[in-house]
Amino acid sequence: MTAARATRSATFDSTSPATGEVIATFPVDGPDQVEAAVARARQAQRGWAELGFDGRRRALLAFKALLVRRTDELVALVHRENGKPHADALIELLLSAEHLDWAARHAARVLGPRRAAGTLMLANHAAWVEYQPLGVVGVIGPWNYPVFTPLGSIIYALAAGNAVVFKPSELTPAVGCFLADSFADAVGDRAVFQVVTGDGTTGEALCRAGVDKVAFTGSPATGRKVMAACAERLTPVVLELGGKDAMIVDEDADLDAAASQAVWGGMANAGQTCLAVERVYVVDAVYDRFLDRLVERASRVRPGAGPGADFGPITRPAQLEVIARHLDDAFVRGARAVVGGPEAVRPPFVDPVVLVDVPADALVMREETFGPVLPVVRARDADHAVALANADPYGLGAAVFATRRAEPIARALRSGMASINSVLTFAGMPSLPLGGVGESGFGRVHGPDGLREFTNPKAITRQRFALPFPVQSFDRPGYLLPALRQAMRLRHGRAPRK
Ligand code: NAD
Repeated sequence: MTAARATRSATFDSTSPATGEVIATFPVDGPDQVEAAVARARQAQRGWAELGFDGRRRALLAFKALLVRRTDELVALVHRENGKPHADALIELLLSAEHLDWAARHAARVLGPRRAAGTLMLANHAAWVEYQPLGVVGVIGPWNYPVFTPLGSIIYALAAGNAVVFKPSELTPAVGCFLADSFADAVGDRAVFQVVTGDGTTGEALCRAGVDKVAFTGSPATGRKVMAACAERLTPVVLELGGKDAMIVDEDADLDAAASQAVWGGMANAGQTCLAVERVYVVDAVYDRFLDRLVERASRVRPGAGPGADFGPITRPAQLEVIARHLDDAFVRGARAVVGGPEAVRPPFVDPVVLVDVPADALVMREETFGPVLPVVRARDADHAVALANADPYGLGAAVFATRRAEPIARALRSGMASINSVLTFAGMPSLPLGGVGESGFGRVHGPDGLREFTNPKAITRQRFALPFPVQSFDRPGYLLPALRQAMRLRHGRAPRK
């Protein structure tokens, strides 16, 4: 892919965040290249749609099987280009395989023609919905889960019969190309799922290239730019944006499990997870006992580039400054570190940090930190914890550790997803939708909603027989309206009994 485009002038290097080693050089695709890719995709989409659900199921399952057979290669590439440990890259691929399997096998049931009930007045018509593919979907992805996150849009869009043009993050283009090359090798078609490479300018070109929808995953700031660019052509968007996910620990929680999951949820992948636990609210009655357990566990976690590391380097160098700024701001405002401290940022790594006494207006409580930093806050009770958690513009995921009140707490949290007595579980369930509210975006990927997100729900009616007294006609007889009026009073005019 790189060689074929080497004639273009502007290129960029993808480098290892751990060592700085150049992994590969890629072209910065401009509007011409992006539009050409979209045109090729539009051509190819017809054939892909005509394969039908069964043909696409087989093709997507072949793609899945090839990705799985290439596990070692892909895991090694993700480790080199993103920096995460092999184990994390493997989990990412495993989750993606589950989603691929689900989308391939369930698209026909979810998107097949669905009969709709008629009404008394239109009893002579049959009615149904057909979920038609949109055409070409532009997918713009981030670097933090370079396999799982973009595939969460790509495979659902493909299963629904669309072609895809994917712009991976400029930090993980090699992984993006690996995915598209594997699809081409498995399916024998290079135009149904293509990759364009480059930075934000390439993403912007994709928004303006006349695609039928843009599925964007990234930061809220870029999400706004994507939406503005798409507005010019009324191109619809699904925005999967950042998060500041809260965990709530109630008085009857299993504190060992809560502490263990808080550390993993906050620090796996160096905290560079949109659904990372970024705030922990603990009710007063168990605060001290929870904190002891959390400190003990978080102190054992180690970053590094070698095989024994729990998490890797910070992938995006600029993020190191954000993490350092959040820590400095928290300390200036009176926060204390009970694990780690001001020296935690040692580029390209950040050591685990657990903060207490953090005021609600500190940056680390309000903005996405995207680092292995866990602020822990004491709440009076569960209602107070929910109120504190909800006083935040983000609304992606959330976690609740509780027994008696677990479900009401999960329901009351302002978020797109919530997990009870675990963290992030919803992302691994292909049958559930994933997406946020507020600053975390809108629209859904994954599950039946994620399949429908990439379709046009087309409503069709078919008159089965003509009525002797046509209503929708200038030729209707004079007696018809008074009769309909009477029928309407009988059917709809009575107030419900108390
Ligand atoms: P980012 O917003 O900087 O970039 C995302 C993508 O947008 C990249 O491919 C980038 O090249 C492209 N881009 C940049 N400017 C653009 C423009 N003007 N027009 C079109 N595209 C443009 O985000 P990032 O740093 O790559 O990823 C981290 C962010 O992604 C975090 O906020 C994280 O929470 C979020 N994220 C969200 C989810 C989710 O499911 N909600 C999943 C993973 C990551």
